[in-house]
Amino acid sequence: MSIIFKRTKILATLGPPTSNPEMIEQLALAGVNGFRLNFSHGDYAERDDQITWIRDASKKIGKPVAILQDLQGPKIRLGMLNENTPVKTGDEIILDYAAEHNGMTFPVQYNLAEKVKPGEPIYIFDGKVRTSVIEIVSDTAIKLRVENDGTLMSKKGINLPDTDFGGDILTPKDLKDIEYGLTKDIDYVAISFIQSADDINNLRQILVAGGSQAQIVAKIETKAAIKDGVLEDIVKASDGVMVARGDLAVEAGAEIVPIVQRRIIALCRKHGKLSIVATQMMASMVDNPEPTRAEVSDVANAVIQGADTVMLSDETANGKYPLQTVAAMKKVILYTQDNAPVATLHDEIISLKKRQDAISTAAVSLAEQLNVSAIIAETKSGSTAANIAAHRPNLPIISVTSELRSAQQLALSYANRSYVRPDSAEAGFEIATELKAQGFFGDEPTTVIIVSGQQPGIIGTTDTIKVRVLE
Ligand code: PGA
Ligand code: MN
Repeated sequence: MSIIFKRTKILATLGPPTSNPEMIEQLALAGVNGFRLNFSHGDYAERDDQITWIRDASKKIGKPVAILQDLQGPKIRLGMLNENTPVKTGDEIILDYAAEHNGMTFPVQYNLAEKVKPGEPIYIFDGKVRTSVIEIVSDTAIKLRVENDGTLMSKKGINLPDTDFGGDILTPKDLKDIEYGLTKDIDYVAISFIQSADDINNLRQILVAGGSQAQIVAKIETKAAIKDGVLEDIVKASDGVMVARGDLAVEAGAEIVPIVQRRIIALCRKHGKLSIVATQMMASMVDNPEPTRAEVSDVANAVIQGADTVMLSDETANGKYPLQTVAAMKKVILYTQDNAPVATLHDEIISLKKRQDAISTAAVSLAEQLNVSAIIAETKSGSTAANIAAHRPNLPIISVTSELRSAQQLALSYANRSYVRPDSAEAGFEIATELKAQGFFGDEPTTVIIVSGQQPGIIGTTDTIKVRVLE
């Protein structure tokens, strides 16, 4: 009946093999809806290029694409070591912010002495070397007891699952990266290792004061963030939430991640926020042209759970088969959406915008009863379209907006396809007619639902549902 497109979107991380204009264009054509710029690596000159290439490709192929700036947060790393250093159970080692590597004293890129307390666990190298704090030995150094045999290497990451950062998770590097982002064409800022809604509110203050229109994605990867009550407050304070499964598994235990994923997707849907499932979705494709059965199943499950977006990390940032990975992921998404309904944990949807919510509910219900081809949403900020998406309708949501920023942000939103057009009283009907003429809805007459407002271009004035037959 109509052109098929992915309802669950793909966010791909750029890295050496994909950081060039040709690959970016090919990835977008293959099905990538947004690019993640991982600020744990790379420099600003490279970022400048990537942003230009993404925007050029998007313009060239006529497809709005989101750019997500991913801030490193307190992802603390060891500094440079003279050599790889084996450590044994029972060894005592020093991590010092102010020292060079010397024997069992290791440099660290962050002053842990200000944050940690004796007894707290510290995991080094993705949890491969487990330690606990014995004492704070100076203003810059802490002493740890090693709890298993392993090897320490330069720049390996450090996780602090029980350390309270007390609402101070943005590092000097993050603040510098935020400053940089304020001057750039960025749609989302993701913030790592948040512990509470305050961390989101603090970032929002900085972004708003800097005149940014970027939305905020909270990366859930600490034990503190998944506590009862805390998680839902974080979802409410954010515009979107990433299930950051890599670090979450190290900090809280791998076995809890699938359940937390399901809870987060459901909470996001309840509050009309974007949900992103991240890390190791197609990890074996870093080296292989085919995914494993388990990876296919993982992507399919995220689709069935109703995730807005699935993310690729190393697969596109370091992998040998970035295009094949996107193609494989897209195939799984399309098959799954066409053969299994979305089944979220609960169906409750809460919105503070009561009228908008009532209109979305009515539009989706009408769409289902009349078996229409699409819901068309005239939207300024994108919030009407996101609100409709929260219902996870089994059909395309076509957004029409005069704001390029909104179209780019909606690129990651469930079932969405955006078009940028000037505000007008008939923008929705005009885009529907245009798409019909292009064959988007097939040759037969078809019906669409149009959601709009009396005052096009003014946020919060959505008040009309129309049923239109396209001949
Ligand atoms: P990262 O975040 O790739 O920036 O670490 C995602 C994760 O931890 O899963
Ligand atoms: Mn992480």
